[in-house]
Amino acid sequence: MRRIGLFGGTFDPIHIGHLVAAEFVLEACELEQVVFVPTRVPPHKEAPDTPAEDRFRMVELAVADRPGLAVSRVELDRQGPSYTVDTLRHLSARRPGVRFAWILGADQLLGFPMWKSPEEIVSFADLIVVVRPGYNEHKGMDAVRDRFPKATLEMVEMPRLDVSSSELRARLAAGRTVSALVPRAVQEYIRDRGLYERTGQPK
Ligand code: ATP
Repeated sequence: MRRIGLFGGTFDPIHIGHLVAAEFVLEACELEQVVFVPTRVPPHKEAPDTPAEDRFRMVELAVADRPGLAVSRVELDRQGPSYTVDTLRHLSARRPGVRFAWILGADQLLGFPMWKSPEEIVSFADLIVVVRPGYNEHKGMDAVRDRFPKATLEMVEMPRLDVSSSELRARLAAGRTVSALVPRAVQEYIRDRGLYERTGQPK
């Protein structure tokens, strides 16, 4: 069966951690494609200041020259919080011949049992976990296996990259370089749109 990976996140902005994860999963799990799914309103973290259209455009620029990677507007075009289960319901109904795999970093896995309708999520999709420095992927996987014995869980090793969007935002606000941490087109977009520049006085 055709299998497509879905990689949800705020991508504020997208960085090499996301891209390396997507490419390693694509190859290791022999997926047809990995599709980034930027959230409009993340249910599990604070709403980003950066407009959803800018976050989407940066992902679009990042995947433009990377075969096998794509981006979806499915969550941007839906009102309300971007629940994964709703995204999977929507996509599964439209792509009956496809098995989906939801990709998430080890940090996200720890909170997975608190997501909306996790039972339903694991019935719609396999879960693929990518390692992330500072988080114990085995602990998270054991917890999910205990709670959801029917879940299909895979783990993918990748170079452990200790990089996060929050760190990038802080670097950009301080006028520091991110040139090796985001694709060149994304860096140019950030500069041209004046994203992440510090506004107002520091508190
Ligand atoms: P922030 O710092 O704003 O919280 P983030 O860098 O964690 O952002 P998200 O957009 O929240 O990025 O992450 C989307 C997905 O990518 C999540 O599943 C997250 O676990 C995963 N991810 C993010 N950074 C890395 C990384 N360096 N290595 C592996 N996975 C990552």
